[in-house]
Amino acid sequence: MKSQCRIIAIVELILGVIGSFILAKGAGINVYAGGRNWTTTIFTFLIGVVVSYVFFVVLYSISEIMDNQEYIMKQLEKHEENPNTSSPASSAKVSRSNSSASLLGGTKQGTADEEDGWLCAKCGRLNPNSSSICSCGKHRF
Ligand SMILES: [Zn+2]
Repeated sequence: MKSQCRIIAIVELILGVIGSFILAKGAGINVYAGGRNWTTTIFTFLIGVVVSYVFFVVLYSISEIMDNQEYIMKQLEKHEENPNTSSPASSAKVSRSNSSASLLGGTKQGTADEEDGWLCAKCGRLNPNSSSICSCGKHRF
C-alpha cells in the first residue's frame, strides 16, 4: 500500500514535468506573431513543475505517514504478543499507551523495568510489582 503510494507520487512527478513541458510548448507559441514567447513558455513550464512537485510532496508524505502507522501497529502487535505477567488487564492497557507514546516521542527505553517490577535496593533483584518484599527479605519501600 505505502510503496504503491510512493510509486504513484514518483509517476505523478514525472508526468507532471512532461505535462508542463508539453503545456509550455503549446502555450508559448504566439499565434499572432507566429514566433515563440519564451517568457510565457518558461513561466508555464515552471508553474507546471511547481504544482506537480507540491502534489508529489503531498503524496510522498502520505506514504511516509502510512509507513509510520504500519511501524507503530507492528510494535503494538509485538507488545501484545508478550503481555505483562504481573497484572494482565490493567497493565496491558498501560503498556499499550506507553509504547505508542514512546514511539511518537522518540524515547524508547526507560519504563520497561518499572512496568515489569521493582529493583531491590539491597540485592538488586528484579521483583514483580505484586510482591512488596524481596526474596532476600528487604521491603520495597
Ligand atoms: Zn533483595
